[in-house]
Amino acid sequence: MNKKAYYGEYGGQFVSESLMNTLDEIDRAFEEAIRDPEFIRQYHYYLKQYVGRETPLYFAERLSEKYGTKIYLKREDLNHTGAHKINNVLGQILLAKRMGKKKIIAETGAGQHGVATATGAALFNMECTVYMGKEDVKRQALNVMRMEMLGAKVVPVESGSNTLKDATNEAIRTWAKTAEDTFYIIGSAVGPYPYPKMVKEFQAVISREAKKQHMEAEGKLPDTVIACVGGGSNSIGMFADFIDEPGVELIGAEAAGKGIETKEHAASMAKGHPGILHGMKSYLLQDEDGNVQLAHSISAGLDYPGVGPEHAYLHDTGRAKYVPVTDVEAMDALMELTQTEGIIPAIESAHAVACALKKAKEMTPGQSMIICISGRGDKDVNTISDYLSGKGYLN
Ligand SMILES: *Cc1c(COP(=O)(O)O)cnc(C)c1O
Repeated sequence: MNKKAYYGEYGGQFVSESLMNTLDEIDRAFEEAIRDPEFIRQYHYYLKQYVGRETPLYFAERLSEKYGTKIYLKREDLNHTGAHKINNVLGQILLAKRMGKKKIIAETGAGQHGVATATGAALFNMECTVYMGKEDVKRQALNVMRMEMLGAKVVPVESGSNTLKDATNEAIRTWAKTAEDTFYIIGSAVGPYPYPKMVKEFQAVISREAKKQHMEAEGKLPDTVIACVGGGSNSIGMFADFIDEPGVELIGAEAAGKGIETKEHAASMAKGHPGILHGMKSYLLQDEDGNVQLAHSISAGLDYPGVGPEHAYLHDTGRAKYVPVTDVEAMDALMELTQTEGIIPAIESAHAVACALKKAKEMTPGQSMIICISGRGDKDVNTISDYLSGKGYLN
């Protein structure tokens, strides 16, 4: 067993024999690249000039006053394409170029990772194919249009539930046949090793900036850091530089959908069990026979039945805590942030906000927390509108 591929008992490389060499090649290329100052310079050049980093660590003054503790927002919503996903896509696409690959494939559920990948592919003139469940192609027509405008080919996948889980299986199958000239860009901190490690490294820029920014503002580390968890990429990036700081509490907000007592949620930590999916061992939502269940969340980006293996490890060791947040709690928090600070967060990020506002009530005015605002809510206005009609939020 390749020990470094594991986080405790989680992670690993559960793929066909033909992909083992490919994963080794990627791992070697990645380890070389992140030690090459020229690669790092390029990566940071695009983060600054193209993505618009560094993103602000904004002191949410009115929210802080109302909740009686200092609340800072790490503004990943201000990145080009509207979320944190571009940080990872640019890192992986620069690696693909360095390895001499000509083609890019990706999976997407809601379409956010597909759009980020198609954006990177346009920027670097690479041929790009995105696999997307047929059901999601219908539900996310606007993102399909964006990907096509950017020059990507969107392939609707018809199998299983016709959603993200099936699109990912199809992408892995295609990759096994085409890995010679094709790089698979995974969109979250999931998949076979070394993907969880690579995605963490490319998202770690979030906590590196936030740590320095918080130091400048407060002269100390934050007491608590909170992020939402789908597959776990914005959260592992937000945690990365704080994991070895025992005084900093780490909290992940997972989607409890209609409630973890129902079957309609995506709370793989609260209600899942260790199993194998998409090349990794981790917590998964599954039935008694081990069949992977459909996840539910009002936010498409958290609608995944598993979680990245490092989070499973952080959960078991107690280093991070994972808190389920329902659709209703998230939407209340979304409106609170919108009307208190003038920031419409993505519904995904609103799960972190809900969790944070609950936590704030246990904290003192001298303490501080950072919430990762992983993306903007513009993409969610239709969902928000459907939800709010009749709820009395709108005047
Ligand atoms: C995709 C997405 C997420 C969930 O993915 P992670 O890998 O868990 O970060 C969260 N927020 C936004 C805005 C997203 O687009």
